[in-house]
Amino acid sequence: MEKFKNYINGEWVEGKSREYFQNVSPANKNDIIGEFPLSNAEDVNDAVAVAKEAYKSWKMIPAPKRGDILRIAGDIFTRRKKELAKIMTREMGKPTFETEGDVQEAIDTCYYAATETRRLFGHTAPSEMDNKMNLSFRTPIGVCGIITAWNFPIAVPSWKIIPALACGNTVVFKPAKEAPHSGHVFAEILEEAGVPKGVFNVVHGKGSVCGEAIVDNKDVRLVGFTGSTEVGTHIGGRCGATNKQCSLEMGGKNAMIVMADANMDLVIDGALWGAFGTTGQRCTATSRAIVHADVYDEFIEKLAERANKLRIGDGLKADTEMGPVIHQSSLENCVRAVAVAKEEGARIVCGGEVATDGDLKDGCFFKPTIVADVVPGKHTIFHEEIFGPILAVTKTTNFKEAIEMQNDCEYGLSSALYTKDVNKAFAAIRDIEAGITYINAPTIGAEAHMPFGGVKGTGNGHREGGWTAFDIFTEWKTVYVDYSDSLQRAQIDNYDD
Ligand code: NAD
Repeated sequence: MEKFKNYINGEWVEGKSREYFQNVSPANKNDIIGEFPLSNAEDVNDAVAVAKEAYKSWKMIPAPKRGDILRIAGDIFTRRKKELAKIMTREMGKPTFETEGDVQEAIDTCYYAATETRRLFGHTAPSEMDNKMNLSFRTPIGVCGIITAWNFPIAVPSWKIIPALACGNTVVFKPAKEAPHSGHVFAEILEEAGVPKGVFNVVHGKGSVCGEAIVDNKDVRLVGFTGSTEVGTHIGGRCGATNKQCSLEMGGKNAMIVMADANMDLVIDGALWGAFGTTGQRCTATSRAIVHADVYDEFIEKLAERANKLRIGDGLKADTEMGPVIHQSSLENCVRAVAVAKEEGARIVCGGEVATDGDLKDGCFFKPTIVADVVPGKHTIFHEEIFGPILAVTKTTNFKEAIEMQNDCEYGLSSALYTKDVNKAFAAIRDIEAGITYINAPTIGAEAHMPFGGVKGTGNGHREGGWTAFDIFTEWKTVYVDYSDSLQRAQIDNYDD
């Protein structure tokens, strides 16, 4: 059994505890991928100390030169794309056509960041006084602690790590325990690209130990987190108490609204992909459908027919359309959610149970599930994030009610409206409470160069992806240059009314 190591100061080192956890494939519980260090606070503190030291020289490298290194990283991700996709599929389950897309996101993020290092623009502004110049420019922040979920094991870390490095910060990364091998390869790639020792470090282990130690370390100046709202809110509170900057990407309960005039073939394609892509384990997954009464029965019937035909299996097999859920407790959570929905009077249209045919019995497979006649306020499944292949369907009689239902949610990540009515589309863009709104497309499918994030319980106001990621990983330095050779007072000190 291969034993993996942490990556600290450019070296592969064992965890101090000498204890390990096993990385097990969700498609086959007997497939043990390897053992990874159960690191402790000492390991984290070592990594932070070297990242703090490395920051002194990394921030001095001109940004476009840092960008050159990240461009090479993009080339290496490209070269290793298929191999890395298989590694990812084996450890977290989604089919390889999806994990290849996951790597592609990192490639795009590297190339985008590489060019953005030439565009880390500041501002100049007029002064209140003569012979004085005002300007403001971006500076890096310091050591960034990056803590991520397992469902996009390369893409989501890349959204944080790559812009953080581009801006001149150094990084200590704790990958999810369910996808540590992808984190390991991330370090191999950045090392080969030429990221200097200590600039990027990986420490494996439990969130409750390693993650907490990152958040607690006083030399970590920023925490970038992706994961559940529960853990993120806890981290946000801790960062607030120590004045650390903190960017939180958390849960979702994303709805698609289907109006009666929508193109129903497009709707069904979108619902199938949005609800069951990544086995429903995307923060942006379509987990609610709010469907107009005139097309409600048609929607359910057509979607169930397609869902029942989805090929479930090991994501490494070429014909698999939907992989497993991440682990046994996720499987149990799906079973529980369906049982609660039934108890509360909702209707299970298809799926609703563990899939155990043939080889599936060795993995964590749940059938694509549609729960119909779900009523806001009455059914838990309308409100609770399940993170599995379960779609809750609700009937609506009008557009205004549909928008109200969509917004009746503690989260606000993604949303979708299917209609041919341009007036309704623009009203929805205005009125939906979510960071992302798709018109005539499913709730999933972010593009690397666009802001990504949500409102309410999904985030704390930041946006990863695109140009907005650079706002997270930089601070503003304001500079006044007075060349009058005399003491000039700004209006704050000199206002005469
Ligand atoms: P999780 O919150 O359990 O874990 C996320 C990360 O936090 C892991 O690395 C974990 O080890 C670490 N962690 C756990 N406890 C910690 C603690 N006390 N201190 C510090 N770190 C700790 O989430 P998960 O189950 O891995 O992922 C699923 C969740 O992630 C869902 O809610 C999903 O919506 C969300 N998610 C959000 C986005 C987004 O961009 N908004 C993207 C992907 C996933």
